Amino acid sequence: MFETIQQGLGSALKSLRGGTRFTEANMREGLRSVRRALLEADVQLDVANTFVTRVEEAALGREVLKSVRPSEQIVQIVYEELVNLMGPVDSSIRLNSGRPTVLMMCGLQGSGKTTTCGKLARMLHSQGQHPLLVAADLQRPAAIEQLKVLGEQLGIPVHFEDSKNPVSVCQNAMKVAKSQSRNVVILDTAGRLHVDDELMKELEQIDRKVGPDQCILVADSMTGQDAVQSAKSFNDALELDAVILTKLDGDARGGAALSIKEVTGVPIKFVGMGEKLDALEPFRPDGMASRILG
Ligand code: GDP
Repeated sequence: MFETIQQGLGSALKSLRGGTRFTEANMREGLRSVRRALLEADVQLDVANTFVTRVEEAALGREVLKSVRPSEQIVQIVYEELVNLMGPVDSSIRLNSGRPTVLMMCGLQGSGKTTTCGKLARMLHSQGQHPLLVAADLQRPAAIEQLKVLGEQLGIPVHFEDSKNPVSVCQNAMKVAKSQSRNVVILDTAGRLHVDDELMKELEQIDRKVGPDQCILVADSMTGQDAVQSAKSFNDALELDAVILTKLDGDARGGAALSIKEVTGVPIKFVGMGEKLDALEPFRPDGMASRILG
């Protein structure tokens, strides 16, 4: 078992007594344990270092209170800084009036992109919107079929074509959306096992020719720092508007959740908490901070 941040701080600051002030020297061991716990959670090194410096700056010179344990004081600061690092979050999806809102979903293969398209469509449908799902992942043979099955389960239409050209599939889907009065178009674009030029070219082409209102990256939290790296690459190519972090139900460490906003500046809007279609939740930095503290 890993030592949690709370446990680490508890033992490192045990000898501190009320009445003194927090100094670099008396916090050193405690902050080291925070840094170690972050690295064990697969947080990027730079992010962990910057974070610990922020906590140190916030704590330096503060009086060590007599009423609470010194470690609890630092835990509170760590908590606040974690919430700042991951937030603020706006979990609404802004919709256009008068013309369909296009959400371009992208991500690596296996990240949960197609499933998340279904989850998002379900959520919007339950809010009284009229989504259209678009099968524009022409790379993975089963993706079209998977989206069709999801659409049937949800009672939400799916636009698909027997085509090799994802741009024209998306363009045709826009005509279908208008003729069928669908006000949100969700594009399930291609993924690959790794970020590569061909993938990015295809996505940039859809971005240019279809002009989505929002580009949303689906990233797998279980892949830790790799998820952060791919978020950076997708953001460089597409200027992401939001990230949806999947499989948080299986990721106890939360390293990706912590690093993505700091590294890319792109907020996490929702998290996937399971394979079922109702397992999509707004991202809550406070809940995540408590989980990381342990
Ligand atoms: P894609 O290749 O990115 O389109 O990925 P899929 O949508 O096919 O998902 C890959 C696998 O991840 C499937 O088995 C999904 O059921 C699973 N999956 C997707 N989202 C989540 C999630 O939030 N939690 C869990 N536990 N599994 C998920």
